[in-house]
Amino acid sequence: MSAINELYQQLILEHNKSPRNFRTIEHADKTVEGYNPLCGDHYTIYLNVKDNRIADASFQGAGCAISKASASMMTSAIKGATVEEVESLFQKFHAVVTGKMGPDPDVEDLGSLGALAGVAEFPARIKCASLAWHAMHSVLHEMNDSPKTIVTSDTTE
Ligand code: ZN
Repeated sequence: MSAINELYQQLILEHNKSPRNFRTIEHADKTVEGYNPLCGDHYTIYLNVKDNRIADASFQGAGCAISKASASMMTSAIKGATVEEVESLFQKFHAVVTGKMGPDPDVEDLGSLGALAGVAEFPARIKCASLAWHAMHSVLHEMNDSPKTIVTSDTTE
């Protein structure tokens, strides 16, 4: 295993052990449940959006190390970002983990999220890494704020 892969592996394990923003938000502006039946990952994502910015983001639930680390990193990355910034981060992250950016993508601007780039090589794990993102993305642009559920088997990746 290369040094960078080892570092990434440790980041994922560390986020899995001590996930960031692992709490509920009472009366959140947006609540969405994400379920990945292939692996059993099941999370609820909470978002508060104020003035076109993610004022707060959190999650609760359980699943494999990759899905939990991804939700932890995602909530950290989007907190304080504008809706447009979150949109472009989602597009970039999604392209990286689904392998659309090739086997050796430039992930420098993704920060710790780059640790998840390696899942592109393991198709079964792509849905684990993208679960929280699909759930978050599905409600971000919704006007209707009633809670919803996203099942990854309904998404392309
Ligand atoms: Zn999983």
